[in-house]
Amino acid sequence: MKNIRYLDDVSTLVLNEEKCIGCSLCTEVCPHAVFEMRQNKAHIVDFNACMECGACVSNCPTEAISVNPGVG
Ligand code: SF4
Ligand code: SF4
Repeated sequence: MKNIRYLDDVSTLVLNEEKCIGCSLCTEVCPHAVFEMRQNKAHIVDFNACMECGACVSNCPTEAISVNPGVG
């Protein structure tokens, strides 16, 4: 069975890799495995799986991530 997904290309998720310090908290808190660590930086690997819950934003120590819940 196909996983339930939200609409494609509507998430407001933005990652600023320059601000990322590689703590990997976003990969731990995201319920949809949107992020992966590569070379000590977070990368968005499944953008369309983001349901804008905001957990990554709340846990990122450097405000490298932003999301605007309710827009998409
Ligand atoms: S807002 Fe939620 S679903 Fe989207 S990337 Fe962050 S933790 Fe994952
Ligand atoms: S929580 Fe923020 S600083 Fe930590 S890995 Fe994710 S984007 Fe980088």
